[in-house]
Amino acid sequence: MEGVLLGVAVLLALAGLLLLFRARQDVGRARSAAADLARSGEQLGERLAAAEEDRREMELVLSTMKEGLVLVSADGSVSFTNPAADGHLLGKPASLSSILPLGLQQAVRRAAEGQVSMIADVETGAPSRWLRASAIPVGEEGLVLLVITDVTEARRLEAVRRDFVANASHELKTPVSSIRAAAETIRTAAAEDPTVAARFAEQLEREALRLSRIVADLLDLSRLEAGSELGESVAVDSLLREEGERLGSAAAVAGVALEIDAETAPLVHGSARDLSLLVRNLVDNAIRYTKRGGRVNVGLEAGDGVVVLTVADTGIGIPTRDLPRVFERFYRVDRARSRETGGTGLGLSIVKHVAENHGGTVSVESELGRGSTFTVRLPASP
Ligand code: ADP
Repeated sequence: MEGVLLGVAVLLALAGLLLLFRARQDVGRARSAAADLARSGEQLGERLAAAEEDRREMELVLSTMKEGLVLVSADGSVSFTNPAADGHLLGKPASLSSILPLGLQQAVRRAAEGQVSMIADVETGAPSRWLRASAIPVGEEGLVLLVITDVTEARRLEAVRRDFVANASHELKTPVSSIRAAAETIRTAAAEDPTVAARFAEQLEREALRLSRIVADLLDLSRLEAGSELGESVAVDSLLREEGERLGSAAAVAGVALEIDAETAPLVHGSARDLSLLVRNLVDNAIRYTKRGGRVNVGLEAGDGVVVLTVADTGIGIPTRDLPRVFERFYRVDRARSRETGGTGLGLSIVKHVAENHGGTVSVESELGRGSTFTVRLPASP
């Protein structure tokens, strides 16, 4: 009997131990499951924070982009626009059919139908602006992304470049034609009459000189468009005196009195070569557009942190309506007079580039028949 009881007690003890062991295991599992859960919770929190950060960054990028973005769904509704798009389209479009001008809608429709990217340039608004739109199919659900860029300035610059090439070609064509004609005359007529050769050789020389002036000015202009090399401290007063000596003989030939009154002025940080070019062009113009007996006065004064250069003449003057345009390339008030006196139409454009490259300005005041005064302000070296 005792043996039986002992056996039962051992069995119960074993069962108890087993239950205890299981219970411990369950607690352990539960604990590790809880720890796992907490870890997953933490990870989820981190991921959500990272996703939120990504979303904010993406929003920042999309809202500061200059390109407008419009996402159009297959049913024609607009599911997203960024602020640039709202600006380009003058409002937030709710659907494709409210996007104007019509060229943009057509680009989106064609992109959706053909599943190919479409590009369209459209003119819009008053004052007129040019928008370039790329409609790009994205994904397989008929979504189209419209990317809109304002290309008004790029088109204006392109038109300026085209005009410039056309004008330059025209300017070069004239002396080249004269040179060809003179050369041909010399070849055919000179054998019969030697005086013809001398006359036409003179014409040839004159036109070749004109051609080389245009080419030299064009080269200066293209160099200046890339900027001046501002590495020197320039004493504009002594530079003026040097240029005055050079131009003195041209003034004497033209019968114009040239007077240079240059106060000692602060130095200017810049390029002596380009500042000489500026002075030469202004004084050369003043002499060329002043009649015999007239005067040209060049002055230099120190202002408040600026050096002020003035070139004043008692010449033919410039009509008020032409004043805003004389700094444009190839703009001339009187084409024939400019040509006769050896002008290229590029001098004042060169002057403006040099002044601006030095952080300065150039302006003009003029009275027809009485004379003109050009004023250049350059920042003085600190
Ligand atoms: P150009 O080689 O024809 O002189 P510029 O660019 O130097 O070209 O000047 C542009 C135009 O401005 C000239 O053709 C001329 O009509 C006018 N102009 C420039 N300077 C003077 C001046 N001092 N007096 C009168 N007209 C001037």
